Amino acid sequence: MFSELVIPHRTIMTPGPVEANPVALKAMSSRILGQFDPAFLTIMDNVKEMIKLPFGTTNKEAFAIDGTSRSGLEASLIALIEPGDKVLIPAYGRFAYLLGEIAERAKAEIMYLEKDWTATFDQQVVIDAIDEFQPKIVAMIHGETANGQMQQIDKIGQHCRNNDVFFVVDMVATYGGVPLHVDEWCVDIAIGGTQKCLSVPAGMSLVTYNDRVEAVLNSRYQKELGLSKDDRNDNHISSNYLDLSQLQRYWSSERINHHTEATSMVYALHEGLRSIINEGLENVYARHALNDKAIIAGIQAMGLGFYGDLSTKMPTVTPVMIPDGVGDGEAVRELLLNQFGVEIASSFGDLKGKLWRIGNMGYSSRHENVLHVLTALEGALTYYGAPIKQGEAVKAALVIYENN
Ligand SMILES: *Cc1c(COP(=O)(O)O)cnc(C)c1O
Repeated sequence: MFSELVIPHRTIMTPGPVEANPVALKAMSSRILGQFDPAFLTIMDNVKEMIKLPFGTTNKEAFAIDGTSRSGLEASLIALIEPGDKVLIPAYGRFAYLLGEIAERAKAEIMYLEKDWTATFDQQVVIDAIDEFQPKIVAMIHGETANGQMQQIDKIGQHCRNNDVFFVVDMVATYGGVPLHVDEWCVDIAIGGTQKCLSVPAGMSLVTYNDRVEAVLNSRYQKELGLSKDDRNDNHISSNYLDLSQLQRYWSSERINHHTEATSMVYALHEGLRSIINEGLENVYARHALNDKAIIAGIQAMGLGFYGDLSTKMPTVTPVMIPDGVGDGEAVRELLLNQFGVEIASSFGDLKGKLWRIGNMGYSSRHENVLHVLTALEGALTYYGAPIKQGEAVKAALVIYENN
């Protein structure tokens, strides 16, 4: 006999997965519909339209891909890359190397433009690298979750457009938390995720792309042999499952039978999107900005430091330097989880053991969560005797809330 699931209560203040929006969880417990049921097709069509709004696009194409966010990154990159294509990857944090890893497996010729991770690129530096390397694709991260920095991309995008370079941008950690302007920034393919600021469980990725990309997809389209003997293509995309040219035709009125849709996830996506659209995207972004301000004020008041340049910090992630006296910070994280039910994140690679990351995303971005994480962190640090200023953090956050 196995015992029934008992899920503990948590305040999740990591950069994802975050607390799911209850409306999304409720939708997931709805009954199943067949994936070609007209009732389900209507849901899909509405989801397509809603996905576009947080991206800030009027692109014809926007849909969801089954698989976590990196499925969208992989689908986007392999749709454009042919072996030997040059891909420029400006890297100011961990996730850029994921783009590189995907591009390398697709046999691209990669050039990383590297810098330290404490700040973003001056856009001109990237533009100069584009002129020098002459890539077919520039792929970069809008918000680097690992170190909490957010890159300005408008000028890079414009330069790519002027030079017929494809611009692929990972907006996984900013989608739904920060205003995005895919069209204005000349982004050809943008990728979002579900378990971050959308507060839908992990399991889908969101993409939108423009006509330039659609032309490539049309030129590479191959339909599964069991469905059609005619639609062969020597230049087809290397993956069947992550083939945007087929996925687009599944999500469009053509409705080719590509995969069995994860209908419950689409329900959740519908409700997660509807929830933030009805709140008003401007209000959603203002909520994230205010909670970010309160987190910063609280951490500062405690006397803790931040990693990297605060002026380019993402509003959705705050990297906090682990103070002296608590080693790699893991005992503090354990105490937070076990005694307060609060989860914060550590970091990756060289930054592991040096900083914690406090998320401020989606449904988790609420006053009570911010006050709870500040209270718990102060309590845990006090318990371990770390040199902090006591009794100030929550007050500083409350001053922000009471005056806004
Ligand atoms: C979380 C994250 C990813 C990876 O997402 P998965 O859902 O784990 O596949 C990629 N890029 C960024 C910027 C992220 O924050």
